[in-house]
Amino acid sequence: MDPLIETRLRSAIRDIPDFPKPGIMFKDITPVFLDAKLCDELADAFIEKLPGPIDAICAIESRGFFFGIMIANKLKIPLFPVRKAGKLPSKTISYSYNLEYGSATLEMHTGIIKPGWRVMIHDDLLATGGTAAAAAELIKAENGKVAAFSFLVELSFLGGRNKIQPYSNTILPLTTF
Ligand code: AMP
Repeated sequence: MDPLIETRLRSAIRDIPDFPKPGIMFKDITPVFLDAKLCDELADAFIEKLPGPIDAICAIESRGFFFGIMIANKLKIPLFPVRKAGKLPSKTISYSYNLEYGSATLEMHTGIIKPGWRVMIHDDLLATGGTAAAAAELIKAENGKVAAFSFLVELSFLGGRNKIQPYSNTILPLTTF
């Protein structure tokens, strides 16, 4: 990946202190989408990093949808969403996981994954890894293979990589803080 692209990505990401609650430094990626050329190059950068073929992308609600669909379109492969409970209209499976306070549930439609599909899970940011691990559990439950994880940003000090490594060693962040 061209180091200049990472530099441009890092300068487009905006730090918002104390959002959504005190003590959290929120990495706001919305300015990235104001630069269409950068977006195109970032989608290519994800594809360049892939060590092997993938059959589909699992995009995590909601900021995972943006680059998820761009990568899937470039590769001409299917995309399916993983969403918060109660949002998907057809038959779903769900997986609940613990947060710092309370729990969260993610869902996906059943019957999408074809036998043997190698799926890349995509989200905007890897923090503690709970969300991406929950998506991986859903894919496993539907007999898919987790081939890779990709993120615009990894917050390495939160150790999320350790939580998702058991599902796939291919963890592709475009930049790390
Ligand atoms: P986690 O499950 O802890 O890895 O959290 C990842 C999910 O929460 C992703 O969908 C992110 O969009 C969001 N998230 C967590 N922490 C941050 C942060 N500091 N800035 C922006 N998004 C975050």
